[in-house]
Amino acid sequence: RMTQQHATSEPAAALDVLVVGAGVAGLYAVHRLRGQGLSVCAVEAGDGVGGTWYWNRYPGARCDVESIDYSYSFDPQLEQEWDWTERYATQPEILRYLEHVADRYDLRRSILFGRRVATAALDEDSGRWRIGLDTGERFATRFVVFAAGSLSAANTPDLPGLGSFAGRTFHTARWPHEPVEFAGRRVGVIGTGSSGIQIIPILAEPAEHLTVFQRSPNYSIPSPNRPHTPESRAEYRRSYADRRRLSRESGGGSPHRPDPRDTLEVPESERTEIYQRQWQLGGVLFSKAFPDQLRDAAANAPARAFFEAKVRATVDDPVIADMLIPTDHPIGTKRICTDSGYYPTFNRPDVTLVDLRATPIEQVTPGGIRTPGGEHALDDIVFATGFDALTGALAAIDIRGRGGRELRAEWAAGPRTYLGLGVAGFPNMFVVTGPGSPGVLTNMILASEHHVDWIGDTIAHLDAHGLWGIEATA
Ligand code: FAD
Repeated sequence: RMTQQHATSEPAAALDVLVVGAGVAGLYAVHRLRGQGLSVCAVEAGDGVGGTWYWNRYPGARCDVESIDYSYSFDPQLEQEWDWTERYATQPEILRYLEHVADRYDLRRSILFGRRVATAALDEDSGRWRIGLDTGERFATRFVVFAAGSLSAANTPDLPGLGSFAGRTFHTARWPHEPVEFAGRRVGVIGTGSSGIQIIPILAEPAEHLTVFQRSPNYSIPSPNRPHTPESRAEYRRSYADRRRLSRESGGGSPHRPDPRDTLEVPESERTEIYQRQWQLGGVLFSKAFPDQLRDAAANAPARAFFEAKVRATVDDPVIADMLIPTDHPIGTKRICTDSGYYPTFNRPDVTLVDLRATPIEQVTPGGIRTPGGEHALDDIVFATGFDALTGALAAIDIRGRGGRELRAEWAAGPRTYLGLGVAGFPNMFVVTGPGSPGVLTNMILASEHHVDWIGDTIAHLDAHGLWGIEATA
């Protein structure tokens, strides 16, 4: 619903748009919205740009969508200039890329770093959003864009006794900026999601002993990573326009297509060849072997069986293999993880896997972690426990819409949005890759560009028609 101009006696607001966050989405929002002549300011809690790629500096952090696809598409010149060193870039390289983007488009001058947006309230008299920062700074803005991240509010479980632990603790999503030495140490990793799966093989190398605490096993498929060569670079530069078109047309935001047939139409031997081909494409793409794989349990079962056989052929101890193979969800219904040597790590004599469903953590002690199976002696605990996903960053802000309605309260029983972009009762407030959008199920850089372009076009339309605002209806 679009609304006519507000009757207001207030002079023009200080800002047209306030953007929360300077990750992939916030950076593009500054570029795009400023580029259409709006006054824009972004506020970022970190001391630099990059969001996910600023905070998640743990060893092994890298993307699971090929870098040539997991990169901005808004400027063909940028695509042609940037040299990706390998197919799946590591965190330092992705951060360098985002810093380059910030410099190349002169974005930093519109970003305030090292402060948090604490409050955002619609002032219905003036028709402006009033934004308060944790520094006490205040803004009035016509529009507010939350690019605060689906996976940015780090989650540390409140384990009994954690404060008593005498060793070091780390969180993958708040990793120190300096290198951390693990040589000769007894290290515990809690969590076997994407971050745990990436860091575990790397920590196993220097650690004297690595103990992996697993609640939920996840499906993981090795990354077919390799360095780019001058030839592969020339090839991707030539094919960029096509790759982007195919990516935009696909549900997952990548240029790969499933076999067009339904799984069970394909003879078993041919199906196995197709699974093998998808396996070599790596990670998330394995869930896209056939179009019905994520819709039909019978079509999912052979893909899952293929995965299971791969793990059993890799992990020597069948009891450990049983612990590592998920049985509680079909393959691909959670984003498949992408790894470099994850399953072989469990063949090492200096690595122990603890099943927290069988033996939950009872207590963190000064010397380690106690479960009903005994005490695991540790010098370091690494939390790879992910995020308060999707709603965490927004729930941390006091957001009030019409009549003082509080977003946290509105979403107490779960978030309700229009396509993830807008919320009823919260006019002129946009969320990028918000809950209810394809968000974390897709290539999030292309998804962010898509959302921000829609927001930019919408604001341009409102302004061209002298309209005050836009609002999702319940
Ligand atoms: P973020 O990058 O999370 O940025 C949000 C920013 O907002 C943060 O910097 C945060 O500090 C700031 N912020 C939040 N609240 C406030 C506040 N109140 N005030 C001020 N600032 C605030 N996606 C893919 O598609 N492919 C991948 O390969 C991939 N790999 C990933 C690997 C890891 C380790 C992780 C954690 C995620 C990965 N993702 C991947 C998802 C990733 O989060 C997105 O791709 C993308 O980087 C999100 O960008 P964003 O700008 O939306 O959010």
